[in-house]
Parts: sequence; structure tokens; C-alpha cells
Amino acid sequence: MDLRPLLKMMFNRSELPENRVLVDPHAHFHKSLKPSEVVQALYEKGVSAQAICDYGLASGNPEHVICYEEFIGRLNERDIEIVNSDYEMTVLRRKNDNRRLILFQGREMEAIVEGSHGGFLHDNHQMHIVVHGMRPDYDSAQEILKRTKIEHKSATIAHPFTIPARKIEFVYANREERGTVVKLAREYGAAVEGLNSTNSLWMTPTNFWVFETARKQKLKVVYASDAHARPSLELTREQVGIAGTTIDRRMFNKAWDEGKLSILINEMQYQGQVFGGVQNPILFYKVMIAPRIAKLLG
Ligand SMILES: [Zn+2]
Repeated sequence: MDLRPLLKMMFNRSELPENRVLVDPHAHFHKSLKPSEVVQALYEKGVSAQAICDYGLASGNPEHVICYEEFIGRLNERDIEIVNSDYEMTVLRRKNDNRRLILFQGREMEAIVEGSHGGFLHDNHQMHIVVHGMRPDYDSAQEILKRTKIEHKSATIAHPFTIPARKIEFVYANREERGTVVKLAREYGAAVEGLNSTNSLWMTPTNFWVFETARKQKLKVVYASDAHARPSLELTREQVGIAGTTIDRRMFNKAWDEGKLSILINEMQYQGQVFGGVQNPILFYKVMIAPRIAKLLG
């Protein structure tokens, strides 16, 4: 087994390759933050295209998570110019240096795989699926993936080998579930998320496993930050740009010029190169552990 991808995931702090730009297809932001400040953070961290994802949970999008429309609606055009905006993508440039940025709509669905059996600590196979340019209703995983394919949109199976479980936070996917991920990704042309950097410390074994599986099974693989919507601007700034998928700058410019999300997404899924690494332990503590302790202590 080639362990270099794992080491790269753990310790990679390399620069973006020349002529490529960073796309982050999966992240969430807190409603209390000013969208313009988040945008400045994206510029600072070298992100060129950022998904703004809400959640399609049975209980709806959590109150504190900002959705794409509200994010765009509250952008302050003092430092940036919104060149073009529609329901799935907004192209903007920074006034002082003309640097380009794309913000695009995303939704992370929590769905159940039909026909799944679950396992020791979970009743069924729950799958998180990130979609762009659409908002399917809470439904079965197969139904969401099918609809995405029919509408020529993109889907990514988020942290595919880490299954959300009610009783404990998550379980590692069993053999049946791993097989299902590969089968569904193939059948519906979905990408798999090979690195989820915010969750990475407890997902490092599965991240690596997904990466290896994607390589062997020739699945499309993307990396994402999965920035968790925290109310602190500082924590948000630290989370963005840690991981993502790089695309050719010319294709990014084409998507920007033509205002077409499909150009960006296709390039990311078919020609994208994974970039970034595991979040450092201090940030992991601040983003993932401290909020849980605070909640426990009530
Ligand atoms: Zn997420």
C-alpha cells in the first residue's frame, strides 16, 4: 500500500500549484458573521470558488447556518463588485486588485440508503450528500442521486466511510456500506469526498481509505474543508482554504466569464486535483471539541 497520500494528507502544507485555483465544494458559515468579512477571509486564504452550503435535514436548515441566498443578499458592495448573480452562482471581483471570486450554492442532505441494514450501533446507512445548484427535498439517498443525475447537476458523497449514527456521533462504514458507496457513486456519477479537513482528525483513517478506494475503483474524488459554521470570524478564517480541489485557472476564468456553475463543477469533478491536508490539532480542538464540551457543561 502506498502511504504517501496519507502522509501528504497529514503533513501537506504546500502552496497552490501555478496556474491552478482552489475550489471548496463543501462548507457552512454562521449567520452572525458578516458575509463580506467571510469573503475577505476567502481572499486571504487563497480560495477562488467557495460553496455556501445549508442543510437539508428532516428538521430543516439549522437556525445558525446561513444559506447561499441570504449570504449573497447581505454582501456589502463597498470593497467588492458583484458582477453577476443567479440562484446557483455569484461572480464577484475585489475592487482594489480585481481579484476574482465565485460563490456558489450548496446543500448537504442527510438521507437514508434504501435497503440498507445498518449495523451494531446504527439502524441504517445514513449518507450525507452535497449537491450544488439544486435543493432536493429530504429523501432517500438513491432518490437524491438519481435526481441529481437527471438534472445534470453534481453530487458528492461527503465523508463516505464515516456514517452518521444517532447513538454516538458516527461509526466507520462496514463492508456492506463501503460497497454501497462505490456502487452508488458509479451508478449516479457522484464524486466521493476524500478529505473532509474540519473533521479530519477523527476521520483521517476513513479519509485515507476513501482516497485509496477512489483510486482503485476510479471514482471521482474531491477534497473539501467542510468548514463548520462557528460564530467566530477568527475560527472561520482558520478553517477556510485548508483543503479543496484545484482546477485550471483558465477554466475558472471561463466559468467566471460565462457565469456558468456547470463549467466549474465539471472541471472540479473530472479534472480536479486534490489539495490540502488535515486540520491541525489545536484548530480541531477549537472547532470540534470545545463546542461539545461547552454543550455538555450546559
Ligand atoms: Zn458539512
